[in-house]
Amino acid sequence: MNPAVSLIGAGPGDPELLTLKAVKALGRADVVLVDDLVDTRILEYCPGARIVRVGKRGGCRSTPQDFIQRLMLRYARQGLRVARLKGGDPCIFGRGGEEAQWLSDRGVACEIINGITAGLAAASASGIPLTQRGLAQGVTLITAHSQDGTTPDWSGLARSGTTLVVYMGVAKVNDMSRQLLAAGMAADTPVAMIERASLPGQRLCPSTLAAMARDADAFQLRSPAILVIGQVAACRVLGIADAPAESAPPLRRQA
Ligand code: SAH
Repeated sequence: MNPAVSLIGAGPGDPELLTLKAVKALGRADVVLVDDLVDTRILEYCPGARIVRVGKRGGCRSTPQDFIQRLMLRYARQGLRVARLKGGDPCIFGRGGEEAQWLSDRGVACEIINGITAGLAAASASGIPLTQRGLAQGVTLITAHSQDGTTPDWSGLARSGTTLVVYMGVAKVNDMSRQLLAAGMAADTPVAMIERASLPGQRLCPSTLAAMARDADAFQLRSPAILVIGQVAACRVLGIADAPAESAPPLRRQA
C-alpha cells in the first residue's frame, strides 16, 4: 500500500529531471502542497489533484511551517493521498526531514522521494564535475543562510579540501569571500555562480574567490543561485566557454 504522504523532490526546475517515482506519486495524489521554487510545469503530472501553494521564500510572505504540517496531517486523516512537492531534494535544505519526523510521530505513514538537488543540477548544467581525481575528493553542501543565525565554520570548510556547494548564498557572497580568504583559501580559487539552473534563462558567472563579490554584483546575480567554490569550478568538461566575468557581456546567457 502507498503511504498517506509522499514528500517529493521536484528537482531544480526542468520537469525532465523528475524521477519516474515522483511522476507516479504525483499522478495518484488527491492533494498537492507545493513550495514556491517548484516549476509550475511539474503540476501537469497531477491534473486531477487539488493544488495548495504553501511557499515560504526568504523575505516574502510565508506560510508557517507548523500550518503546513497540520494541513498535511488533516488531509491524511481525511484519507486523502497527499503529495508534498518541494524544490530539489526534500531533505537538502528543504525541511523534509522535519516534516517526515513530525508526521511519523503522529502515526502517519510517509515516504521520501528524492529529487535532483540544485547543487548537482547547477554543476552538471555548467559542465562542472563536483568531484574530479586530483582536484576534489569530496563535496560539501552548505547553506550560507541559517534560521538560527549561526554562521558556517568557514575555516573548517576552507581546510576541508572538498568542493563547496553553497545554497542560499546570493546575499552572502561578500561575507563568504572574506571569511574564506581570511581562513587561508587561495585568492585565485575558482568559483562558479549558477543562477536558475536547468530553467529558461539559466546563467553562469565564472569568478574567483577574491573577485566573486564584485563579479556577482556586475553580473546582477539573483536568487535562486548556487555557488561552486573549488578547483573543479574551473573545469568545464562540456566545453562550455569560460571567460573572466569582466570581459563577458553583463548579462551573459547560457542556453
Ligand atoms: N531543497 C532544495 C534547496 C532549497 S533551498 C534543493 O535540494 O535544491 C533554496 C536554494 O536552493 C536557493 O536559494 C538556491 O541556492 C538553490 N536553488 C534551488 N533551485 C535552484 C535553481 N534552479 N538554480 C540555482 N539554485 C537553485
